Amino acid sequence: MYDVIIIGAGVIGCAIARELARFDLKIAVVDRADDVSEGASKANSGIVHAGFDALPGSRKAYFNVHGHARMQSWASELHVPYKNNTSLVLALNEAEKPGLSELLARGLQNGVTGLRLIDRDDVLRREPLVNPAVQGALLAETAGIVSPYHLTIALAEHAAVNGVDFYLNCAVTGLDRADTGLFTLTTEGNPTSNAFGTPLQTRAIVNAAGIYADQINDYISLDTFKISARRGEYWMMDKQIGARFSATLFQLPTEKGKGVLVTPTVEDTLIIGPTNEAIADKTDTRTTREKLDEIRRVAARTCPSLPQDLYITAFSGLRAHCDRGDFIVGRATDVAGYYLAAGIESPGLTAAPAIALELAEQIATDLAAHHRNLFLAPLAPIFLGHGNDEVNLVALAEHIAEDPAYGRIVCRCEHVSEAAIRQAIRRPLGARSLDAIKRRTRANMGRCQGGFCTPRILEIMAEELSVDVTTLTKFGSQSDLLTGGRL
Ligand SMILES: Cc1cc2nc3c(=O)[nH]c(=O)nc-3n(C[C@H](O)[C@H](O)[C@H](O)COP(=O)(O)OP(=O)(O)OC[C@H]3O[C@@H](n4cnc5c(N)ncnc54)[C@H](O)[C@@H]3O)c2cc1C
Repeated sequence: MYDVIIIGAGVIGCAIARELARFDLKIAVVDRADDVSEGASKANSGIVHAGFDALPGSRKAYFNVHGHARMQSWASELHVPYKNNTSLVLALNEAEKPGLSELLARGLQNGVTGLRLIDRDDVLRREPLVNPAVQGALLAETAGIVSPYHLTIALAEHAAVNGVDFYLNCAVTGLDRADTGLFTLTTEGNPTSNAFGTPLQTRAIVNAAGIYADQINDYISLDTFKISARRGEYWMMDKQIGARFSATLFQLPTEKGKGVLVTPTVEDTLIIGPTNEAIADKTDTRTTREKLDEIRRVAARTCPSLPQDLYITAFSGLRAHCDRGDFIVGRATDVAGYYLAAGIESPGLTAAPAIALELAEQIATDLAAHHRNLFLAPLAPIFLGHGNDEVNLVALAEHIAEDPAYGRIVCRCEHVSEAAIRQAIRRPLGARSLDAIKRRTRANMGRCQGGFCTPRILEIMAEELSVDVTTLTKFGSQSDLLTGGRL
């Protein structure tokens, strides 16, 4: 029996789990996917928004600003890549300039600091590849970028080392509340969730199920809402071009959202996108020729000289758009012991620390929990040995002396060693699929997109997990990598 079960192992569910783990509570996280961060939390822009975009007075604005204030220290504590790279909203003609002043006023109302209007010369001095037609910009000095899946994985690992149980491959298909106040989950998938025929039971339940939060809510509450999926497609470009940008570049937002941005990532690749398309099928994460062409067309307004030969991959993520138009965070209105973190579309990544802190505090208060005496620190990150400075080269030599596998490079594009891949498998919540290895090490994420290293990674996985290589998948069920017999 658990005190709290969180449904959804995205950045929101994992952040709540980590904050709740500070209390003397028995906690579990359940997710239908085979790894944490398989929903929107793996496929977004990774922007730590300053907070000028959300409507003043909304929950989005509140959690954005308060989440942003904590993100840098969370990233540093959890060893997660983060950069305070600033952002610019560009006025690409005279008519767009008043829009910048409106955003500035909104940001000031939201309590955002470090916002100011800058002129054309300042924009081009900061970002020489911006369209020379630019007329000025809104500079947000506090904006940043973070690796969204690193953050989610690090939060989950930190929760796990502090005693939180994770049930992956475990879809919640029903939820009941007895008169005693105890919740019982019906689940499909992971056999351990029904070990000895005992279903998962808990005193409190948190709905952090992303695009499916409305379905989970329908199992238990009459205070209904609707979540629709809005797909955002992206191009990713090579580090050669990413390294030539520093700030995140937005065009003026429209009623459809923040629009197509151009931004470096913490790894120096460049992403352009996302689109914003309502889709009926919540599993449809395709990328399409039409939308990818549209992105190139729109991004050319921001940077007309983006090279055409440095695109390395495309991907998409699904926003959880709520018909209430705002985040739903806190105690349910009609069911005691049931809490929501629903409708968390952008800027949900930025908002995660603030949402987690507020919910953890509410739940701990309601369950009369106390802080634990012992809260373990986050694990040291996987040693990747990147960088040519002396400190790093000495550390690399020491690691190789201890374990020669640190010297055997498996992914040539991203310089990932065999030892790093083995570590990714052996850590708490260790990688069990090719994508899980990719998110923990960057193997498969470089220019060749796994063309060279995939066979060797699969061999290492099969060896570490003592399974036949043909059973390994890209991201869990129905994503087999190998079929047929072996010669
Ligand atoms: C295109 C795009 C761009 C974005 N850009 C930014 C940005 O730059 N900055 C920013 O701050 N925010 C951004 N966001 C928003 C941000 O990504 C999300 O707000 C955040 O990732 C939401 O996290 P989550 O944990 O609520 O959802 P998710 O990460 O989707 O996690 C929900 C989890 O619930 C699980 N689940 C669902 N149903 C069940 C069930 N029945 N049983 C068990 N498990 C279940 C899913 O498998 C999933 O893992 C963007 C979003 C998108 C889509």
